[in-house]
Amino acid sequence: MAERIPFIAGNWKMNLDHLQAIAFVQKLAWTLKDARHDYGVTEVAVFPPFTDLRSVQTLISGDKIELGFGAQDVSAHPNGAYTGEISAEFLKALDVQYVIVGHSERRQYHHEGDEHIAEKVANAIKNGLVPVICVGETAEDLELYGPSAVPVQQLHGALALAGGATNIVVAYEPVWAIGSGQAATPEQAEQVAEQLRYVLGEVLGGEVADATRILYGGSVKSSNIAGFLRQPNVDGALVGGASLDIAEFASIAQFRKHVGT
Ligand code: PEP
Repeated sequence: MAERIPFIAGNWKMNLDHLQAIAFVQKLAWTLKDARHDYGVTEVAVFPPFTDLRSVQTLISGDKIELGFGAQDVSAHPNGAYTGEISAEFLKALDVQYVIVGHSERRQYHHEGDEHIAEKVANAIKNGLVPVICVGETAEDLELYGPSAVPVQQLHGALALAGGATNIVVAYEPVWAIGSGQAATPEQAEQVAEQLRYVLGEVLGGEVADATRILYGGSVKSSNIAGFLRQPNVDGALVGGASLDIAEFASIAQFRKHVGT
């Protein structure tokens, strides 16, 4: 079976300008260094706003910091007359490794549907970015269809143009758990993650499914992270609110200390 290196990803959303981002990343790197964090054992990445990316890139490469970084969205188009959009090529030119696609806030506030998300995923992959594909059910979906149906359908949709992809990350983020303080239980997350891995197998084949990291997201904190990472199909976390608190995010990244492994 493929070894999946746990991945702790911090989605800053629309918080921290480029000056704040520099101070934040510096302090986060020092905190993780003090804790003797081994990035080979647990990968850690931040997802700042677009306007911070150049500053974060310069700092990370200049100071040889092992933190990864990604963008929070990408255009479905290569380039051209798309006012306000950001091209995957531009992100790649800034050494961006990851890009979040299909976050529930984009689906909800920007009306992004499965087809659009599939185009973004395909465009990210084509340009050498690793898409972090977000799927998750609302509270209403949960009541009507149970926990897995909507995430499974969304993952099928997101992968519709991604045949042959070998390097993606999936984030299961129940919408009702995002920013609510009410996280799913580790068992709930595992149940859906198992179904999502099954979909990965159907679409991309068993080997890719086995190697793909599936994250849980939704009110993750240092006090609940270890329970999620104990599940066989959960390989990390996409962290929103708690990723803006350096000590808390570093403690989440150090989740092994909470389970004593
Ligand atoms: C998110 O928005 O991706 C998220 C998981 O947020 P929070 O951790 O604040 O629930």
